[in-house]
Amino acid sequence: MKSKLIFSPNYDFGIMGLEKLHPFNAKKFSKAWALLTNEFGEKINSFSTFIENPATDEELEIVHSREYLTSLRQSKVIASVVEIAPLRFVPNFILQKGLVDSAKYATAGTLLAARQALDSAIAFNIGGGFHHAFSDHGEGFCFFADAAFALETLRLEKKVLSTDKVLMIDLDAHRGNGFTSFYEKDKSVGIFDLYNMQVYPGLKQGDPDDFPFIIPLRAGLGSDEYITLLKTELPLFLDANPKPKLAFYNAGTDILAADKLGALNVSYDAINERDRFVVESLRERNIPTVIITSGGYSSDSYKLIADLASYLIRTNA
Ligand SMILES: [Zn+2]
Repeated sequence: MKSKLIFSPNYDFGIMGLEKLHPFNAKKFSKAWALLTNEFGEKINSFSTFIENPATDEELEIVHSREYLTSLRQSKVIASVVEIAPLRFVPNFILQKGLVDSAKYATAGTLLAARQALDSAIAFNIGGGFHHAFSDHGEGFCFFADAAFALETLRLEKKVLSTDKVLMIDLDAHRGNGFTSFYEKDKSVGIFDLYNMQVYPGLKQGDPDDFPFIIPLRAGLGSDEYITLLKTELPLFLDANPKPKLAFYNAGTDILAADKLGALNVSYDAINERDRFVVESLRERNIPTVIITSGGYSSDSYKLIADLASYLIRTNA
């Protein structure tokens, strides 16, 4: 399968330094991209697409209520999504440009990645993965439900049918409560989610037998246990969901031991191993795949993102 990268420098956040009030590394997308351009030089343009335009409110209405989209014109709403209370005093146009527009560019990137993936590829959007966004509100630094937006747009265009199987493999440290809220009752969407149940948004409620692949982990879980669990459970999940039309891989790097928000204890090398195992598992089954970066709050997050992108390109089939 072909490997493709999608990116825009507009994915970076920036609000006059105020973004430093959150552990998110606002420039990590550009830093990851810089590593890749160093490695591949001009050649990078031959397998990359740059996002020129952000997703619009009209487009986003396919998954979000108009009320929610309109509410983002209030600084206090943006402040609550990104959990930086002082931002409610910042003029809205500054937050639009520095935060909301960034998320809209990355959301457009996830849709483009999904389009490219359907063309028999693994397409890596160097951003996105906003798995805490709901139809009527955002939380956990997630404004827009980019994966649901991509899927619903493709369904509307009949490029993905409602009977087609679609998978979400969410390996961010936090449970993908937003994505799940869209598809919990949709049997055509299979969800695999290894998450730390002791951090936000906590243990999934309900009968675990109803969602056997949304698997809680305890805080501090180490590399060996994590990798063993992944290598046991992911093949079972893929066997239980044969021949999907499309898969999303939410490759959050906040499972890294140094990541304060993820609160797991997985090593840098084990995250490389995780990413390669997921990619090879999907490649060997010829599953068109969208990769999105999701959370990652350590100083090494951008390097892990670049490692995965580099691996995809170097092993391009
Ligand atoms: Zn996370």
